[in-house]
Amino acid sequence: MKAAVVTTFSEALTIEDRQIPEPAVGQVLVHLEACGLCHTDIHAANGDWPVTPTLPLVPGHEGVGIVEKLGEGVTRLRVGDRVAIAWLGFACGDCRYCIDGRESLCEQQLNSGYSVDGAFAEYTLVSARFATLVPEGITAMDAAPLSCAGVTTYKALKVASIVPTERVAIFGIGGLGHLAVQYARIMGGSVIAVDIEKEKLDLAVSLGADFVVNAAEVDPVEAIHELGGVDVALVLAASPRVFEQAFASLRRGGRLICVALPAEGTMSIPIFDTVLKGISIIGSIVGTRQDLAEVFALHAAGRTQVISESRRLDQVNEAMAEVLSSKVPARLVFEF
Ligand code: ZN
Ligand code: ZN
Repeated sequence: MKAAVVTTFSEALTIEDRQIPEPAVGQVLVHLEACGLCHTDIHAANGDWPVTPTLPLVPGHEGVGIVEKLGEGVTRLRVGDRVAIAWLGFACGDCRYCIDGRESLCEQQLNSGYSVDGAFAEYTLVSARFATLVPEGITAMDAAPLSCAGVTTYKALKVASIVPTERVAIFGIGGLGHLAVQYARIMGGSVIAVDIEKEKLDLAVSLGADFVVNAAEVDPVEAIHELGGVDVALVLAASPRVFEQAFASLRRGGRLICVALPAEGTMSIPIFDTVLKGISIIGSIVGTRQDLAEVFALHAAGRTQVISESRRLDQVNEAMAEVLSSKVPARLVFEF
């Protein structure tokens, strides 16, 4: 099977021919149909973050494919099921976080395409418990971006507890942001999309954004305050400065939801404003299996739209360069 492999952090990925792996107890072998390219995969390939993955590594955590073989003891899936392989590749099931519905905080977790090999390959293994069933009527091309970009933004807005009279600013309209605009609308908020590319703002409008702010042309904080400020600011752009702008855009009682992960950097937040305005600062990391099931259910019901373009796996290095140039429409998805 073909796999895209990170062998050193300083060099391009290589396409290797590997043995198709055998599922161990509790695992299934998945024949991939599609896998989205997430910014996290680029950070993994570059070794950008404080915790670097062990090499060699096959990235990819927006994998969608068909179960081809069951490991011993697997009863919840059948051969032929279409499943998603998301960032949360495994969690212990027994710790305080797993038990109370916060499995994405489990300290024993394994992350697909980071701590274990992921889905930039024709086949991969996944724990059967953490392979989420993709419902009928969702294509693999759509299911792939929903498995990280979708669930991550859906969860981030869920923890923001939006009520219908509130206004939400989405900072960064890309693979994640174009879905965030739609979830914020579904949750009842009105939406301000913020980006530095006109095409992305046009896309946000076509997906339901009520207002747009081009941060390359105007000061986004001023522009948002002219509109009355926002109750929720969701940061999807990997720049500490954008986090600070998002904070400064909030009204009293506002929530700053941090999702993007700049390779380095610290945000500077005024304590006085945080206290007097009763601001909450919340970090949100991907979502649970249930959150992903909800994301799929919304899509199957025709309530969301995924914007993506297809690439071949052997274009992986070019595709990463395209994502870094910010010129891709929303999500790039490798089709197998
Ligand atoms: Zn991701
Ligand atoms: Zn756990």
